[in-house]
Amino acid sequence: MNLAFQLSRLQKMDSELDQITIRKNEIVRLIQDETIVNEVKERLNEKQSELDNNQKVLKKIEEKNNQLQLKLQEDEHALYGGKIKLPRELQDLQNEISSLKKQTASQDEDQLNTMMTIEDLENEKSLIQRDLVAAESVFATKVAGLKGELSSLEKKKENLLAERDAAIQNVDAASLERYETLRKAKRGLAVAVVVDQACTACGATLTPADWQAARSPQRLVTCSSCGRILYAG
Ligand SMILES: [Zn+2]
Repeated sequence: MNLAFQLSRLQKMDSELDQITIRKNEIVRLIQDETIVNEVKERLNEKQSELDNNQKVLKKIEEKNNQLQLKLQEDEHALYGGKIKLPRELQDLQNEISSLKKQTASQDEDQLNTMMTIEDLENEKSLIQRDLVAAESVFATKVAGLKGELSSLEKKKENLLAERDAAIQNVDAASLERYETLRKAKRGLAVAVVVDQACTACGATLTPADWQAARSPQRLVTCSSCGRILYAG
């Protein structure tokens, strides 16, 4: 059988196998790329730390409130206990009580504001948690699709390799070696198809003699410009 034809068949299979390898590598990369999920996780972490900070603030306010309440109770107890008799001391105590009450009122406002902030943050956090569930589901669907594609590529590769094994039986060892060497040197493309008397790999027009020779089934002609084996069809 025509050697150039056999080699062009081999080339077609090898090019397909190369494409499969490229796509398989891409799929492996895509399956590991959890960017869409990680972005949401990062947003969730940020929200959580904002929430933690506000809870710490709230705890401090509550502690301060307790201290103020205790001090107030003590002062009021002293005021009404009747042990302090000097007007000057009584006045001081009353002043302190009124200052403590002002501080308590301001603390209460801070406490309320912080509690409201925490509530808002909790709501925002649940929205992000919902986003996370959605992102994980989108990613899982994507991965399932990619794994399906991967296994059909594996099957296709197996079939092609079997076909290739059969095809090389029709090619003599020297031609096969020449083909393999060219493929390595020419970025995977050793055989170029001739269309309109031109090499489709480099675009060079064939001389009438080469064109004639390329069409003969007995000879193997290479492109005078790029060096690839020509297949005239
Ligand atoms: Zn060429």
